[in-house]
Amino acid sequence: MLKLDFHPAGRHFLNIPGPSPVPDRLLRAMSYPTIDHRGPEFGAMGLKILSGIQKIFKTTQPVVIYPASGTGAWEAALANTLSPGDHVLMFETGHFATLWKKMAESLGIKPEFIGLPGYEGWRNGVRADMIEARLRADTKHDIKAVCVVHNETSTGVTSNIAAVRKAINAAAHPALLLVDTISGLASADYRHDEWGVDVTVSGSQKGLMLPPGISFNAVSKKALEASKTAKLPRAFWGWNEIIEMNKTGYWPYTPNTNLLYALHEALDMILSEGLDNVFERHQRLGAACRTAVQAWGLEIQCADPEVYSPVLTGVVMPDGVDADVVRRLIYERFNMSLGAGLGKAKGKMFRIGHLGETSDLSLMASLAGAEMGLKLAGVKLAGSGVVAAMEYLESHAVPALKIPV
Ligand SMILES: *Cc1c(COP(=O)(O)O)cnc(C)c1O
Repeated sequence: MLKLDFHPAGRHFLNIPGPSPVPDRLLRAMSYPTIDHRGPEFGAMGLKILSGIQKIFKTTQPVVIYPASGTGAWEAALANTLSPGDHVLMFETGHFATLWKKMAESLGIKPEFIGLPGYEGWRNGVRADMIEARLRADTKHDIKAVCVVHNETSTGVTSNIAAVRKAINAAAHPALLLVDTISGLASADYRHDEWGVDVTVSGSQKGLMLPPGISFNAVSKKALEASKTAKLPRAFWGWNEIIEMNKTGYWPYTPNTNLLYALHEALDMILSEGLDNVFERHQRLGAACRTAVQAWGLEIQCADPEVYSPVLTGVVMPDGVDADVVRRLIYERFNMSLGAGLGKAKGKMFRIGHLGETSDLSLMASLAGAEMGLKLAGVKLAGSGVVAAMEYLESHAVPALKIPV
């Protein structure tokens, strides 16, 4: 048997901002036997999933589901709507925006990367006014799409997507709006139709609480139109055949059957809690986490309180402290993982995930682990973040569940 050197006892505290902890309900759903993906039971489940997932994206348009990680759905969004040499506008919010831009380049698209200068851009959200100014200057309408990341997972900064749509409209520019909410969906407020997004890209292992392996494209009418003339090569990622077969609840290839069981279960969990309640839970826990960071006397990576992420918090280390050393210590001592600083932020900060299956007590456990780890690493703290977060949660209490006697 494969020997794995795991911690000998107890549960691993997976506090990275994706994959997020997978609820036991979903793990059990995944253990159902794999069935015939062309049989009658499968089609009935497929239809339920396809209509449930539309509610999560807040769309009446098709949502294409791929057996792939989020990166695959990034590629699908570009490959279905654009042609080689197309000019697209992207905004540098952090590591994931940078990776999407690199992907666009390797597909033969010409991205123009705008944003606030240097590292400042990694501490702020998208500036819709900069997008509007750039689009107004593009009088020949060379720019075919605007691509932005809604929840920049590398920094804990969200962006105002409604404002980006307004900017595109104000410039009377025909560019498509492509949005990555791989880590925002089902944790942070998101509205595909209302915000006029053309393609929304998402993934399974963040707010949806599934393991990695499923990803999504929600597709507007305008994006479907664009796909008819878009010339980038695509086969597996092509929307048309998938959307056609989805009408009966099936896929043209073998779908990820057991992950779809989990998705079916996750949709039930999220929709029974109520999407707005899910968003509020994340907002409250995010605020409690930031209260802890402030009590420690440490800086939050997001520099603009208007766009704090409800999904994760980036914690900046004081000068001379390597965040990766602190994370390693916490991992080894407490069997808890925290997100690493990525790209330009490597070693400068760590990220606390508070998304998906997260609660008052799971957050308190992460904060206790982080506080103990910071102390062990010799970081001078101004005060106890754990106590501050507890006080925040008490003073912002949610109604207790009433259990009938
Ligand atoms: C996780 C993530 C990705 C990459 O998704 P994979 O599933 O790792 O391929 C892209 N963008 C954002 C914002 C993410 O959080």
